[in-house]
Amino acid sequence: MEIIETVREMQSYSEDLRRRGKKIAFVPTMGYFHEGHLNLMREGRRRGDCSVISIYVNPTQFGPNEDLARYPRDFERDRRLAAEVGVDVIFYPSDKEMYPPGYQTYVNVEEVTNNLCGLSRPGHFRGVTTVCCKLFNMVKPHVTIFGKKDFQQLVAIKRMVLDLNMDLEVVAMPTTREPDGLAMSSRNVYLKPEERESALSLSRSLKMAKAMYDEGERDAARIIEKVKAYIAGHPYTKIDYVQICDTTTMKDVSRLDGEAVIALAVRVGTARLIDNYVFGEPLDI
Ligand code: AMP
Repeated sequence: MEIIETVREMQSYSEDLRRRGKKIAFVPTMGYFHEGHLNLMREGRRRGDCSVISIYVNPTQFGPNEDLARYPRDFERDRRLAAEVGVDVIFYPSDKEMYPPGYQTYVNVEEVTNNLCGLSRPGHFRGVTTVCCKLFNMVKPHVTIFGKKDFQQLVAIKRMVLDLNMDLEVVAMPTTREPDGLAMSSRNVYLKPEERESALSLSRSLKMAKAMYDEGERDAARIIEKVKAYIAGHPYTKIDYVQICDTTTMKDVSRLDGEAVIALAVRVGTARLIDNYVFGEPLDI
């Protein structure tokens, strides 16, 4: 497994692979791996001749009062885990390599980023789409793999790839969960033992929403009300949002007629957790 730290080296490595007709699969990450990341990498391994991942905690997607400074990092552990799942290259750039002095260009996907986390984290998606666009230009992948756990991010990336005519396939992978249902996240390390049980209210409330939908409920407000009440009934929780949106436009819907997603963002202690469920899909909890 190679570790590449410069843009120039990454680009020439990928260019060489492309010239030799090799298919490049790419998983962008911020590191501190869990099984969800590793599943994306395994999919990359299956889909490409060469599997590339990046580890980069991207400052432009964090707000001034967010957790950039304390975001968990452990490169040695990540390196070992990536090697175990057969990753060929870790692209591990520095801030200076990514945003050299004078940097001033950003990619902004508009409508689909206006709602949900776009409201509670101003500038977040601009940072995400900018860094992903840059990483795609550096790694030159044929296929890239994203998790549905960050559903709005996935929609924004798909939109950017379509709108900017990027010659790239975007593959979505289901959310990997702990045995008790908690969506895996690098941020779960922020949870204190007494907060862990409250964190389960997210996935359990999604299960409730699914049950309502399966029994024929199509009124979004009624589902949202139940979900909010359930989560709010747990200590240490503070709801940021509970919304039901169209999966293409990410705008709120009042009735569940087309394909819709229920998206949650909840603070549990100091951790801001997100989770979601696309109605009609399986939910293994
Ligand atoms: P991150 O490093 O957390 O920014 O995530 C890197 C990639 O892993 C993104 O495509 C995420 O959507 C994906 N991911 C994070 N957590 C999970 C999970 N529990 N299941 C599946 N994919 C995930």
